[in-house]
Amino acid sequence: MSDFPLPPGAAIGVIGGGQLGRMLALAASRLGFDSVFLEPEPDSPASRVARHTIVAAYDDPEALKALAAIASVVTFEFENVPASAVAQLAAMGIEVAPGPLALATAQDRVAEKTFLNANGAPTVAFAAADSAETAVDAVTRIGAPCLMKTRREGYDGKGQRWVEHAHDAAAAFEALGGVPVIVEAAADFVRELSVIAARGRDGATAVYPLAENHHEHGILRRSVAPARVTPAMADQAERIAARILSGLDYVGVIGIELFEMADGSLLVNEFAPRVHNSGHWTQDGCGVDQFEQHIRAVAGWPLGSTTAVAQVEMLNLLGDEIDAWPRYAAEPETRLHLYGKRDAKPGRKMGHINRVRPL
Ligand code: AMP
Repeated sequence: MSDFPLPPGAAIGVIGGGQLGRMLALAASRLGFDSVFLEPEPDSPASRVARHTIVAAYDDPEALKALAAIASVVTFEFENVPASAVAQLAAMGIEVAPGPLALATAQDRVAEKTFLNANGAPTVAFAAADSAETAVDAVTRIGAPCLMKTRREGYDGKGQRWVEHAHDAAAAFEALGGVPVIVEAAADFVRELSVIAARGRDGATAVYPLAENHHEHGILRRSVAPARVTPAMADQAERIAARILSGLDYVGVIGIELFEMADGSLLVNEFAPRVHNSGHWTQDGCGVDQFEQHIRAVAGWPLGSTTAVAQVEMLNLLGDEIDAWPRYAAEPETRLHLYGKRDAKPGRKMGHINRVRPL
């Protein structure tokens, strides 16, 4: 077991070597930490800025042993980390933060919404189904139109379908692969917002100002932050974040996606137990960004300030939009964050820019 706070010079283990891992490594290095990644893809974005990368499957026992031998604590950049990997690390005395409860809850949309409602964080009405017949029942109960999503492993709008009529429910269930699903009532939201928050090892919490998010084809395109919200709405978001963090006995940064309803109430869509794309604005809009905040939390350091120091518009650069980098590099108000990915496949997140203005 490591002693916390970890001193500079310690190694932080990260499962997953994509752009979020890369930005975690950059933040860790600023605080004097080394980072070591476990990632099956060679030449990953994180591996090119990390001290060391173990190239192996996330649940490879030998690789996990090697990770445990180097890292003082282990965290992750995506929520589908196999539970067996976390259990093996724990058995070797290596703490994984956020912990297994946060992971298990985030990995299953039914467990997640059940947890949220039980902890005073409201969501749309939902029902679970695991067969074509129960899917029809669920859609009838929730009322069409509604959204059917796979319980597990959906992201960026993948693994979900709108169901317009109850008689389409069985076909939607089959089209999603015949796997267990959640049926969600349609949220008639006026805006999509998100809140990035953190909880330290001492239970202290820190909440960033809300971001307003715009999606295209299920992928985040643009965030504007701090979002224009009433103090009452900011309070509501803070309360929701605090309930989720304490309910999960959480350590680290969390991203919570919200629907703003016409009556001013907030519903939680989902949370990600990790740093989040809609929190990239904090890199240029706050004293301590979400990546450093996460490293601070898992290392047992005090949390940093979440106060906004600038207004930021964050734009994701997808696929060949990255080719416009010379234009962005020439804009005085623009900060580039490029991920070093070799292959600009359509829709792939290649980088983002933060356009920064005074508050
Ligand atoms: P998710 O994969 O759950 O984050 O959903 C991706 C996007 O689908 C969200 O950002 C919303 O734009 C939309 N969405 C998800 N759930 C609902 C819902 N229950 N009602 C309306 N829109 C939704």
